Amino acid sequence: MVDIKNNVNEIHDNNHESKIRTNSSDTVPSTPSSSSDYMTGEADDSSESKVVIPFSLKSVENTLSLSKDTSEEYLKDMIDECKLMVLESAECSDERKWLVRRLIELRLRVQELRETSKENLLETPVILGHHLVPQKYYITTSGPAYCDHCSGAIWTMLQSWYMCSDCKFCCHWKCLNNIRRVCVHVIASETGGYTYTKDICPEQGLSSQGYRCAECKVRIIFKSAWVESRLCDYSGLYYCQRCHWNTAMVIPARVIRNWDMEPRLVSRAAAQLLTLLEERSVLLLEELNPKLFTLVPDLSVVKKMRQEMQMMKRYLVLCPEANNQGLPWKIGIRIHMIENSGNYSIRDLIDLNNGMLLEEIRTAYDTMHTHITEQCELCKARGHLCELCGNDEIIYPWDASSIICHQCLAVHHRACWSKRNHCCPRCTRLQKRRSLHDQQTLDTDDCITENGLDTSETPSDTT
Ligand SMILES: [Zn+2]
Ligand SMILES: [Zn+2]
Ligand SMILES: [Zn+2]
Ligand SMILES: [Zn+2]
Ligand SMILES: [Zn+2]
Ligand SMILES: [Zn+2]
Repeated sequence: MVDIKNNVNEIHDNNHESKIRTNSSDTVPSTPSSSSDYMTGEADDSSESKVVIPFSLKSVENTLSLSKDTSEEYLKDMIDECKLMVLESAECSDERKWLVRRLIELRLRVQELRETSKENLLETPVILGHHLVPQKYYITTSGPAYCDHCSGAIWTMLQSWYMCSDCKFCCHWKCLNNIRRVCVHVIASETGGYTYTKDICPEQGLSSQGYRCAECKVRIIFKSAWVESRLCDYSGLYYCQRCHWNTAMVIPARVIRNWDMEPRLVSRAAAQLLTLLEERSVLLLEELNPKLFTLVPDLSVVKKMRQEMQMMKRYLVLCPEANNQGLPWKIGIRIHMIENSGNYSIRDLIDLNNGMLLEEIRTAYDTMHTHITEQCELCKARGHLCELCGNDEIIYPWDASSIICHQCLAVHHRACWSKRNHCCPRCTRLQKRRSLHDQQTLDTDDCITENGLDTSETPSDTT
């Protein structure tokens, strides 16, 4: 075990922290996500419930227990009572240890209560872009919370703390004024519309950072006994343990370039950014790496289905019956899948890899398809008939056996279309009509120009 006390003192000079530390120095500190950590002297998840109470004290447990809204007066009474019991207990006994510990907790709570009273506890301070919402004595159900500033555990029963409503940055009340990390929500919106670093771990070496943590600037050296330098696979920068908790995340650049979904270790800032952007459809995948669509067969399946859903969407948005059924927007599919056919989020790609996305799309596709081709007379009526063969079978642009004329959007049988040398009867008809119309317009134009009127808006596209 490393020398916790010395190192901690070097990093922290805050008096609240030293108080907590005395209390927890007898337990092994647990870091947010890793092994031994020199800086988290207070990172101890010994909220009161975790300390085993000596059997002889079972009867007093209730009298000395904290609850969410214990008042300061009541706490003072508890402290007096606890003090008395400490004095009455045998030296070095388990009872005394427990009572001393409880006494410290009670005092800490009084201090917190005072510090966070009225004028001190800001409603929702905005610091470096974070919208920090007070989480006063909130009892967490999902494991211990950790402070994103000092990386110490947050004693949710004892301490006041804040959480950013945008990026989920958590911190102690006492750390509020020392925050260094700008809210990733702000960073993401500043870097031009939520994009990712496109390079895979652009590492430049620790020397280019002057042997300092990229975020808090604390000195870090390779193979140091107590300060570990941790590489962030997302940014390629080195961090100290306080700013890098060994959080494993899927790296977008690795997915886009190599279809590599293996999670890598990243800094807190990167973890928060990646979490924030995970479900946003910010990746124009085909532009970023067109080869992926040939390398990953499922990806080309998704692409095709999305294109077909775009065509079906045009039917559904005009159908009141579809609207009543929640089509096309409310059928349990991520909206951007229907909104466009090219944008993906990192979550989409992860889910594509595990099969979830394809299942989701297939279900939505079938619902849309059934509505148009089987259930709804209105939509069915908007289907097409092949003009080339005159058959009365209704065909749709997304059918595998159909082809759409990109000029006039008429739909034909693929086979008929080949037979007729890709010549569209509707286009021919339209063209004839148009040249007739143009002839007429030209005649009228002559009259109008004579009268001095502007004719620039007259349609004249005959190509
Ligand atoms: Zn934030
Ligand atoms: Zn903190
Ligand atoms: Zn740092
Ligand atoms: Zn319909
Ligand atoms: Zn036909
Ligand atoms: Zn045509």
